[in-house]
Amino acid sequence: MQRIAMAIMLCLLALPGPASTAEVERLQHLPDLPASSMPAPADVLALPDSAFEPVGNVHRLAGDADGRGWWRLQPGPASGTEPLLLVYHSYSARVTVMAPPDYRPVTRSLFDRSLDPRFSRRALVFPLPAAGPVFIGVEGARYPLQVAVRDADAQLAEDVVHVRLISLVIGVLVGISLVVLLFWLLLRERVYLLYAATMALQLMYLLCAYGEAYALPGLRVLARFGVEGIWTIATLATAAASFFLIRLADLDQHVPLPSRLLRWVGGYASLVLVAVLWLPWPSDKDWFPVAGNATLMAANVLALVALGAASWRRHLRAAYALLAWVPLVALSTARAVQLSIGAPLTPGIEYGLPLMLAFTAIVLVLILADRMLTMRRERDSAQLHAQRDALTGVFNRSGIEQRLDWAIVRAREHGGALSAIFLDLDHFKEINDSHGHAVGDACMRELVRVAGGELAYGDHIGRLGGEEFLLVLPGSDLHQARRTGECIRRSIEARCAQVDGIPVALTVSIGVATYRMGDSVASLVARSDLAMYAAKHAGRNRVEAAPAA
Ligand code: GH3
Ligand code: MG
Ligand code: MG
Repeated sequence: MQRIAMAIMLCLLALPGPASTAEVERLQHLPDLPASSMPAPADVLALPDSAFEPVGNVHRLAGDADGRGWWRLQPGPASGTEPLLLVYHSYSARVTVMAPPDYRPVTRSLFDRSLDPRFSRRALVFPLPAAGPVFIGVEGARYPLQVAVRDADAQLAEDVVHVRLISLVIGVLVGISLVVLLFWLLLRERVYLLYAATMALQLMYLLCAYGEAYALPGLRVLARFGVEGIWTIATLATAAASFFLIRLADLDQHVPLPSRLLRWVGGYASLVLVAVLWLPWPSDKDWFPVAGNATLMAANVLALVALGAASWRRHLRAAYALLAWVPLVALSTARAVQLSIGAPLTPGIEYGLPLMLAFTAIVLVLILADRMLTMRRERDSAQLHAQRDALTGVFNRSGIEQRLDWAIVRAREHGGALSAIFLDLDHFKEINDSHGHAVGDACMRELVRVAGGELAYGDHIGRLGGEEFLLVLPGSDLHQARRTGECIRRSIEARCAQVDGIPVALTVSIGVATYRMGDSVASLVARSDLAMYAAKHAGRNRVEAAPAA
């Protein structure tokens, strides 16, 4: 698993480097916007050049505290055939551009339906048909925006890579989530539903944040909810992931306190936040990003602490979940930091996040499979225990009767012999009375050991109750079964004269019966029981066979 993670990291580092964005000659900024309103485009056009102040970093639009600003951008000499102004990762921002020759204001945001369908939504695209300065107005930006001037061909070539990577991740996540969802439909185990919900929400968040959701049929409707839709999805994703990780790694059992904190902070608090977001009051929702991010951060820390503590206590599933979750948290944090300081996203981080999400989905589904395997083993072992006699370790009544039933079915369908031996200890009450129950128990264990040694491969022994045992001998006719019974009787007489050094002189009375067409478990056992009684009446310590007809 660690090796897979390393390989993915190396692939991320090997992705093509950031595109050259040298085609901006100068960027100027309009200082001191009025607090009440954004200057109208016409007013900005009318301003003299001197109203704008130069900006050091010509690729960074850093607005005021409200995420607003006006800029005047001077493109360099056009090098391609179709120069474009690109505003990357605009997220919640609304961008207005006035470009030559007509300087007609064009406003765009990620949520628009009618963006140029040739391009991905990684950047808002504005054509620059003529040379001259460009005016850019930004409202509602949550962090500084990256801006560039490039030729359409270069942008299209990069977009193909972008779309390929995003499609790969969509394919992996949708495919795995669908399969897991089907598991849930059949198995009704909540962890599967939580997995599918977590992955679906993470994917939707990614597609919204990258803007691609608003170009996809079905998800396009999310554009109507704007940035509040993204917040909702992100916060629901936090809640689903918290509940999912708790279930997946059984954190409730292994680390109760961190688990409870994660459930309340990451889970319930996130759900409450979403509920409050959609309440009509308070109408101002500016508080949400801070509260949402704080909850997300707290949930991430709590998830890592809980998974870390459970891993520390050697719970393997928690350790794998940690391995899957850490890179995802690290990359999303790196992306958030890089966006908030306005540094250009390196492809390692831009595409690392979706690729890592696919990796996480795969690792988590492996953990789910491991969880299923553990449960199956526990069920099998419980089933086995349910058919075992605690005192002697051989089958109990229902276990041995089931073996006899299967043997009868096989004898009926394929022919072949089958016999049953009924075995009862002689004067066992006296052994108990004179030496105590513990010695009686030891006698029964010793009897099972000795009798078991006389059985052939495929024979079964079980305790019916008290000091009565049933032996199932598939493939043995009456004659062979009688011989086996005799061997057992003699071995016990010889080897159980003493048990634990106490002279108990253990002997057994044995009844043998062979399968006849139409026999059931009850009828075959009843005949061997009758034969055993005949042995008792004949003086004990002997083998009697039930009459063949
Ligand atoms: P018989 O030769 O006629 O079979 O005589 P018996 O004393 O073996 O027969 P009976 O059915 O009267 O007594 C069975 C005894 O088995 C009674 C009980 O004390 C003993 N027994 C039954 N279950 C257990 C057990 O789990 N442990 C021990 N130590 N004794 C048991
Ligand atoms: Mg008895
Ligand atoms: Mg007895």
